[in-house]
Amino acid sequence: MPKTRPYWWEEFKTYKTQPKHLPEECDVVVVGAGLTGCSAAITLAKTGAKVVVLEAQRPGFGASTRNGGMVGGGYRVPFEEMAERYGPGTAYRLLTESHIDSLNFANARIREEKIKCDYKTYGRFRGMWNKAEYDTTAKSLEQLRQLIPVNIDMVPREQQRDQIGTDFYSGGMLLHDHGGLHPAKYLNGMLHAAKRAGAKIVGYTPVTEVKPSGSGFIVTTSKGSIKASSVLMATNGYTTRDFAALRQRVIPVSSFLIATKKLSKNLIDEIMPARRMGVETRHRHCYFRLSPDSSRFIIGGRAALSNVSEPKATAVLQSLMSEIFPQLKSAKISHSWTGQTGFTFSFMPHIGQFDGVWHALGYSGSGNAMAPYLGHKAALQMLGDPAGETAFTETKLETRSWYRGTPWFLPFAHRLYRWTDFRENLRRGR
Ligand SMILES: Cc1cc2nc3c(=O)[nH]c(=O)nc-3n(C[C@H](O)[C@H](O)[C@H](O)COP(=O)(O)OP(=O)(O)OC[C@H]3O[C@@H](n4cnc5c(N)ncnc54)[C@H](O)[C@@H]3O)c2cc1C
Repeated sequence: MPKTRPYWWEEFKTYKTQPKHLPEECDVVVVGAGLTGCSAAITLAKTGAKVVVLEAQRPGFGASTRNGGMVGGGYRVPFEEMAERYGPGTAYRLLTESHIDSLNFANARIREEKIKCDYKTYGRFRGMWNKAEYDTTAKSLEQLRQLIPVNIDMVPREQQRDQIGTDFYSGGMLLHDHGGLHPAKYLNGMLHAAKRAGAKIVGYTPVTEVKPSGSGFIVTTSKGSIKASSVLMATNGYTTRDFAALRQRVIPVSSFLIATKKLSKNLIDEIMPARRMGVETRHRHCYFRLSPDSSRFIIGGRAALSNVSEPKATAVLQSLMSEIFPQLKSAKISHSWTGQTGFTFSFMPHIGQFDGVWHALGYSGSGNAMAPYLGHKAALQMLGDPAGETAFTETKLETRSWYRGTPWFLPFAHRLYRWTDFRENLRRGR
């Protein structure tokens, strides 16, 4: 039986939470010790602010140490759609921030804080589900090039095997600047950087209420309460029902991953000759890579959108893995795990406030670059620094009248996506 915990946690030293008792007051409480919360804490504490990060579980319990470790920019919402929703100026800024600024920021934070997280610019291959999609994507890439400088090329099907060892896709796109890292080491580095800057990180302390009081807030936790001048919610896919306004706007969507036991070098060379990060465009949304030491294959995807049992998720992912790479049919699985992503109705992240309480969340499936970037931007905005300006304050955190925070519709959405993939599969003129 595979271990039901993230492969990354094998090398995730338990961060000693400090202090045991809550201080009575501070300048800023950050709720959630993931990439968003830690990055915000670094920026805030470096200005001399008294910062306390409160985490319900052990620091790094959420998506930040469970994810695929792929680092890149860009959102799946096409430019025209963003321009229609937010106006061309904002759409352009969203494009620049998501493709370029967030990735540059994550690179700089890793470099400046000397975070040892096996980070490398591997390049990402995005496999196209059918020929029609390849052609449309090639056209969109030309449009994107007119708007912003991007280091991306199309890879026709005949050259696909130079990138990944499969004929499964109808060609793809190679995003040269995208990288990969060890997510638990990344978050651990962020936690230590926040501590070095002077922030206090307190684990096993769920926040149950944030109430206005005078010019600030009373933050109630399982260990008592703390007064703070301002509060940042950095809870993304793990937002609880105590925070109804956010819970009704950020949908927790499960994603699942498996890691194989060590594979032979020959097999690794065959399936991942160029050592790329890999993703695909169908709704199943498989993403795959090698472990940083290039000894194991790791694949994630939508085994379901809501929570299903680990054995079921493992079986689905194993079958997807051998569908894409038949060479891995008999590979043994060592780890199988899951985590919660936070989706918004617009599929775009957001920085904003409800009743004076700040939030930065809604990364909608990615976040290794965007979460630290928006954590930093939120911190600057809380400090009143104009450098905190970002188009992600304009994305609007919408809800729907039929959504009260229980994602009852995810199993139906999953079936709809499966059906769409099936129908698209019939059109696969590879
Ligand atoms: C399986 C999976 C694979 C992914 N793969 C990738 C990838 O390859 N590349 C990529 O860029 N992104 C990926 N993502 C997305 C990325 O991991 C997230 O967008 C990012 O980690 C979000 O960081 P965060 O700090 O906002 O949230 P999280 O890391 O989820 O942290 C939120 C924290 O808030 C805490 N919390 C919640 N409520 C409370 C409360 N009331 N009191 C105190 N604490 C609370 C939670 O316990 C949690 O630790 C993946 C996500 C998952 C789940």
